Amino acid sequence: MLREVHILLTYSCNFECDHCFLYCGPKARGTFTRAQIAEVLEQAKRLGTVEWIYFEGGEPFLFYSLMIEGLDMARALGFKTGIVTNGSWATTEADAELWLEPLSALEVADLSMSDDWFHGGERGGRSDPPVKTALRVARRLGLPVDTIRIERPASGTESAQHKGATIVGGEVRFRGRAADRLTDGLPRQPAAAFTECPYEDLQTPERVHVDCHGNVHVCQGLTIGSIWDTRLPRLLAEYRAEAHPVCGPLVEGGPARLAEVHGIAPEAGPADACHLCFQARRALIDRFPEYLTPRQVYGLD
Ligand code: SF4
Ligand code: SF4
Repeated sequence: MLREVHILLTYSCNFECDHCFLYCGPKARGTFTRAQIAEVLEQAKRLGTVEWIYFEGGEPFLFYSLMIEGLDMARALGFKTGIVTNGSWATTEADAELWLEPLSALEVADLSMSDDWFHGGERGGRSDPPVKTALRVARRLGLPVDTIRIERPASGTESAQHKGATIVGGEVRFRGRAADRLTDGLPRQPAAAFTECPYEDLQTPERVHVDCHGNVHVCQGLTIGSIWDTRLPRLLAEYRAEAHPVCGPLVEGGPARLAEVHGIAPEAGPADACHLCFQARRALIDRFPEYLTPRQVYGLD
């Protein structure tokens, strides 16, 4: 039963993190309009099971007025709301208050900030990056804030750190840009080892991401259709994982089965299940363009 709709307000981001699932960055295209947000909310409301609406991206604060309007619309419809941000807009405490105070009035129930080595902090040579300022001010304002942390590599040069087991042991999952930028030199395993999807419920998702193209993602870049073509209640009612050419094999036997069914041979052994899944999906993108989209999430175009 679907409980959360995460609106990918924009694919654009002021950062271009190596571990980004969605290949976001300053050149990434695709941002919601106000009318499109209203349409997603209306469809989510009609479904009757959705409790939470999240605004994320990319970096949703890049389109601050639109985000605020979306939060307001979602609250008016009775949804709980959340935001995921990198906090880079918090240049000073006084300025951070300007960004954050309206969120209190809108009763935002979950403010998640990326606070780690990857997100412009210590990696960028700053011991007190803007996100720390954002966190301090958010806590002072009583906002329900939490942090998203990806483990910092333990030692060595940056390129050597990327090859270290510490990242594997952290939260990095090798899909999107992470599959291309962070897997060199990592220990590999046979593809046959990855017989299940470790993270997503592809049969009965409780959470989906929706982008401005209407794509409903059950994992980043893996979609079950567009709500601009088929409204969300019907899309979910008609969705059968076993009939989906990518989700079906993933449910049946994980990324190993996906590669096997479609005859994909990964170039080198994968570093984790997501790495194999991402490699297979990118190889299949022209065969299933309606389900593996948008191409920019795969580092293409
Ligand atoms: S991981 Fe977050 S902050 Fe980094 S590029 Fe992606 S959306 Fe931007
Ligand atoms: S195995 Fe595939 S579908 Fe599952 S979380 Fe990883 S990338 Fe997503």
